[in-house]
Amino acid sequence: MSLTMLENGNLVFVRGIHPNEVSAFSLAIDVAKFLRQRGYDVSLETLPYSYSLNYLADHEPGVILKYCRFMKTTRYEKARRREFEEELRRADPSGDFSEIWEWNLSHRLPQPAIRKLREEYKGSPIIEFHNRRALRSGHRFSDIFSDDINPSTDEAIFFTVDDGHYGIISKDAKIENCYFLEIPSFYRRVPREVLIRRKKVFGAVKGSFEHPHAFLDYLEYVVDFKKSQRRGLTGQKMVEKLAEAIEEMVTKNGKK
Ligand SMILES: [Zn+2]
Repeated sequence: MSLTMLENGNLVFVRGIHPNEVSAFSLAIDVAKFLRQRGYDVSLETLPYSYSLNYLADHEPGVILKYCRFMKTTRYEKARRREFEEELRRADPSGDFSEIWEWNLSHRLPQPAIRKLREEYKGSPIIEFHNRRALRSGHRFSDIFSDDINPSTDEAIFFTVDDGHYGIISKDAKIENCYFLEIPSFYRRVPREVLIRRKKVFGAVKGSFEHPHAFLDYLEYVVDFKKSQRRGLTGQKMVEKLAEAIEEMVTKNGKK
């Protein structure tokens, strides 16, 4: 098949957004391979670790501590916010990361990096690969997807794998033609030595946010790949299910 024929079959996969989501990381390759066999031209992009909240926790914890201080005492104060932004820039003299870091701290997403890809791949749907905690059907969708996703819109497609664990693909409200793919998986706590290293950061986060778990989930837990694998959440059936959901979502939105 020629590239021209595949003009509307171009897809961009992004992985590494949240480094603790390890099954999403490896499934991105498997789904890319599968969809290439079906005639899609899939570009696979891996975000550098240095863009992540996890990187900040381990290499620039001072930046997180400053942000927590900012959240605790000076919320909504513009002048103090500018002060924090200044501090961020000082922590990152190259200026490459400070905006990405700020987004990670405030939204847990490196959005400027995704926007850059949006520019680079004009016209192609961008699929962000993420993991979410596996919950069986019987739970309401709102139990799983409370914060950033509104499942009542027609802009989300739910799917279940084998034994009924929910996954979802939904439209990013902020970036055009961009989608969050949330792959169900099981989690475990990060190793003890990592927990100890991040203790100070955890303490500061817990004291500064109304919902610290929304922040700490990325730092305190990691996808348990082996358990997820044992429970059928990383295999061929999952690959096909994800490919199908991506295809359906992209086709549906392409028609609008
Ligand atoms: Zn994620």
